[in-house]
Amino acid sequence: MTPAVPATPEAAWAELVAGNARFAADQALRPNADATQRRLVSAGQRPFAVVLGCSDSRVAAELVFDRGLGDLFVVRTAGHALDTAVLGSVEFATVVLGVPLLVVLGHDSCGAVGAALTARHEGRVPGGFVRDIVERVTTSVLAAEHRGETSVEAIEREHVRATARQLVERSEAVRVAVEQRRLGVVGASYALADGLVEAVFFDGVADLDVTGGG
Ligand SMILES: [Zn+2]
Repeated sequence: MTPAVPATPEAAWAELVAGNARFAADQALRPNADATQRRLVSAGQRPFAVVLGCSDSRVAAELVFDRGLGDLFVVRTAGHALDTAVLGSVEFATVVLGVPLLVVLGHDSCGAVGAALTARHEGRVPGGFVRDIVERVTTSVLAAEHRGETSVEAIEREHVRATARQLVERSEAVRVAVEQRRLGVVGASYALADGLVEAVFFDGVADLDVTGGG
């Protein structure tokens, strides 16, 4: 039996919260991960959320939310840094797949945020294309400083907010979907040790503050 796919931002988020609670309590059901589901979704996908998260090996979205094949459209980069391919992937999930929820998933002890803080305060910037990641995260560090935030935890949360804000500001498709209330946006932070995802903000409807906070 396949349960109904959540069709609203609120229902989609409730499903993710429930899955995360199971995962954190070490009672994961690992749904939709068997051969039956594999064959079922081979004909087409209908995920109920797009998750933009950090590539950190400890923050695997399907495990953290206790979901399986075909449930989540997942985009991961180090520090959930944005580039045009990320924006395009999120737009695809929004426009073509019609997901009702966009989740930006940060976490504690994020190496990308740590590297951005090192760059900001010690002037040490990595080489190669890792530098691009650090540069993108540094804009969030600056925004957090502008808001008077100094703790690493607060800066990590600001990075989640800033990433969500940029997604809505830069992608017209995402912005229109939010304005038309077809897409809700949630910012969330995952705690590595206890496994719990906590909402940084939840906006199931269209009044996400995408302009405030620098
Ligand atoms: Zn990270």
